[in-house]
Amino acid sequence: MTFERHRINRRVIDDLKTRSTVGMYFYVAVTAAVLTVEGFYKRHLLFSIVFLCVMVVIATFRILQHKFYDRFDQINKKLNFCAFFTSVYATALTWGTGFAYFMVMPEELTSKMIMLASTVGLDSGGVVAFMPSRRTSVIYNLLMLMPAALIMLYLQIQPTIVFLVFLFTAYMILVAFRGSREYWDALENEHLLKLKSEEIEKMSRVDVLTGLYNRRYFDEIFNVRWKMAARSAIPFSIIICDIDLFKPVNDTYGHLAGDAYLKKMAQVLLGIFQRDTDFIVRYGGEEFVILLLNHERDAAIEMAEKVRSEVEKMTLFYYTHEIKTTISLGVSTCIPRLAENRDRLLEMADRALYRAKNSGRNRVVFCDASRNAAQL
Ligand code: GH3
Ligand code: MG
Ligand code: MG
Repeated sequence: MTFERHRINRRVIDDLKTRSTVGMYFYVAVTAAVLTVEGFYKRHLLFSIVFLCVMVVIATFRILQHKFYDRFDQINKKLNFCAFFTSVYATALTWGTGFAYFMVMPEELTSKMIMLASTVGLDSGGVVAFMPSRRTSVIYNLLMLMPAALIMLYLQIQPTIVFLVFLFTAYMILVAFRGSREYWDALENEHLLKLKSEEIEKMSRVDVLTGLYNRRYFDEIFNVRWKMAARSAIPFSIIICDIDLFKPVNDTYGHLAGDAYLKKMAQVLLGIFQRDTDFIVRYGGEEFVILLLNHERDAAIEMAEKVRSEVEKMTLFYYTHEIKTTISLGVSTCIPRLAENRDRLLEMADRALYRAKNSGRNRVVFCDASRNAAQL
């Protein structure tokens, strides 16, 4: 799974919402404060009512959207996504228009200065909040500051302030780009860390030589499968295989030849047990265990017999050598009960394997786990 920088996914939307929505309370509070300074609202009643009402409506919408984003997503994902960005830009444009109104009106010096200071504060906060999406951050910044700067430029009023506003806009764009880069670096690192930990988790379950699951994972899965079979009251079978006279293979052809043989054996097992519920594990050196769900005794024996005959036919061509062995298998089946000890099934299969070895090797022996061990 590759990582795409600057791609607005659900995670980024959540970050944008969380980082920016809290600011809406400040927008409303600052609007009310600016309008009341020196009784400003009394002299500009219509503007004050419209400005405050629009801010309150947008803030309410954004807070509600943040709270119920998931529910809105279920109704219309695309519309919800667009509504978020539209309401963000509406906030900036409303404020930007209000700011322009303040800056071009005659007199009201105190209100102008307070509005200017508030705008700088709210704009910086917004730019930082929207850093995850540098485009949003930049558009937001422009909508907040440009209406006033352009009108003032057009009307040729307060050129120094206009220059400062342009300078501040450019500075904020730089801040947005740098912050965005840092945000995406952090997100990329998080992504790589997640991939690595998934890989480590996977590796901890797998046997490095054969690629089959290892004993550690077997203990975990055996428990899960046992409970699954017990709940559904379905047969649960276990096959234990042990290569016959494998030590002489190592002694005659060397350990590397033995390793190559074990790998080939794993491929044979993978070829035979292909159901999703089949679980093959390298249990020990040259021992393999297979867990089968929903296989009655005869089906499990048949599968074990298939392994035996495939191995008998199998030849490993190792340099100039032709290596052949056989395999002994112990099979046990039961319908598990939750209260029962699951190790008993394993023990029965192991006993069956022991009997297979003692009675001449290269054979399958079944041991019924529902019968008493003493009867075997
Ligand atoms: P039996 O028919 O009674 O099972 O005889 P065996 O020789 O197969 O049994 P034993 O348990 O005495 O020997 C198992 C051998 O498997 C010992 C060791 O040389 C070999 N073995 C175990 N793990 C590995 C491995 O990872 N690589 C290689 N090449 N050999 C291994
Ligand atoms: Mg062995
Ligand atoms: Mg052996």
